[in-house]
Amino acid sequence: MSEFVKNLMAQVKAKNPSEPEFHQAVFEVASSLAVVLEKHPAYRKEKILERLIEPERVFMFRVPWVDDQGEIQINRGFRIQMNSAIGPYKGGLRFHPSVNLGILKFLAFEQVFKNSLTTLPMGGGKGGSDFDPKGKSDGEVMRFCQSFMSELFRHIGSNTDVPAGDIGVGGREIGFLFGQYKKLRNEFTGVLTGKGLNWGGSLIRPEATGYGSVYFAAEMLSTRKQTLEGKKCLVSGSGNVAQYTVGKILQLGGKVLTLSDSNGYIYDEVGITTEKLQFVMDLKNVRRGRMKDYADKFKGAVYTQIDPNADHNPLWNHKADCAFPSATQNEVNSKDAANLLKNGVYVISEGANMPSSIEAIDQFVAAKILYGPGKAANAGGVATSGLEMAQNSMRYNWTREEVDNRLQLIMKSIHKTCVDTAEKYGTPGNYVNGANIGGFVKVADSMLDQGIV
Ligand code: NDP
Repeated sequence: MSEFVKNLMAQVKAKNPSEPEFHQAVFEVASSLAVVLEKHPAYRKEKILERLIEPERVFMFRVPWVDDQGEIQINRGFRIQMNSAIGPYKGGLRFHPSVNLGILKFLAFEQVFKNSLTTLPMGGGKGGSDFDPKGKSDGEVMRFCQSFMSELFRHIGSNTDVPAGDIGVGGREIGFLFGQYKKLRNEFTGVLTGKGLNWGGSLIRPEATGYGSVYFAAEMLSTRKQTLEGKKCLVSGSGNVAQYTVGKILQLGGKVLTLSDSNGYIYDEVGITTEKLQFVMDLKNVRRGRMKDYADKFKGAVYTQIDPNADHNPLWNHKADCAFPSATQNEVNSKDAANLLKNGVYVISEGANMPSSIEAIDQFVAAKILYGPGKAANAGGVATSGLEMAQNSMRYNWTREEVDNRLQLIMKSIHKTCVDTAEKYGTPGNYVNGANIGGFVKVADSMLDQGIV
């Protein structure tokens, strides 16, 4: 570890105690940037990285609401406005009981680099709440969303900060949030993305993160003159990202063996088909059930409970070619990484944000496999949110084909940036360095242009 990174991390830890995910995200980026900072003394002199790790603004607020039993519930809401050097803050809202300041700061930090990589003019932000939508009625979710927006609305706007979905925030939640924003502001603007198609949403936005992550894998494979045809794939999660990841893998001729939720995972030896995926989408998006039901429905599929205290996740211990971690942060630890490599996995495209621990990443990079980190591989979601913003500004809708073509072009461009940048800075094939440096330079140069603000 360089002296610079060591000192920086000491500062980050002292200033942001009890935020391990934030420390991890900063460490990963800073480690890649050491070489850039050496080459461009202006970045060091102007303390660009030191400024980047300090959010421009953080909001934390009370979210009171009344449940179906008439009891008052109190949750905590957050919005981190991390960096606006290249455009309005942009990044999702996460509703999950694990949400806290450190997790949202790591996500907002990652978002700055990811958004820069998309080539679109979007700054970085993230927000959410420790509210758990699981097991809540539609009425409860609506009352929570209305209360959440009753505070958030004063901090966001189509030219200021444009939130979207993330874990626990899908079409239903975006609808309730948008309705409340419109009522409070009395204006119909593209203040959120992931909207319904009837009221300003973009075709392909729901599909975009999963599709994008598979397009990224296909691009990585093309550097070895290979395709996804016939490849065996492990996918984790069963939410928005996982569902459309499976859909696109199937379209490109791959075979998907696994899916999971926080309770357990299914292994389907004969492969998840389009019909089975339809069952999962209905199970998760409409009936809001659990993955265990998959194994009850489809004979031959094996369900295994996941023990969160175990030293590894058995989902990553199956023979395969590709892995698409699409659930949550740090779901692939050091032992999982060793299992993946042992089982022949040589393509990893991260649909989730920071799903691999630092020790896992080190193993992937050392093994020289095709490892696409989240901030590059899952950038298709926010890129298509950017396309939704563009369509809202024009008051015009592109067709499915137009949006999908743009998404593919953007994923190709992100891939090229990663490959070219990694090469330029002396680490060919290292997508981690490629993504971190590629995302950083544009933001850093914009910060230099805009003075000390
Ligand atoms: P969803 O809420 O739709 O699905 C999340 C899935 O991950 C569920 O299957 C959920 O299981 C599982 N999961 C969530 N938390 C945990 C946990 N702590 N342990 C184990 N499993 C967990 O979210 P998305 O699909 O939208 O998001 C998945 C990942 O992709 C996240 O890392 C998100 O930040 C990232 N991402 C999402 C984008 C988007 O456009 N939606 C864009 C870019 C990245 P359960 O139902 O049991 O909670």
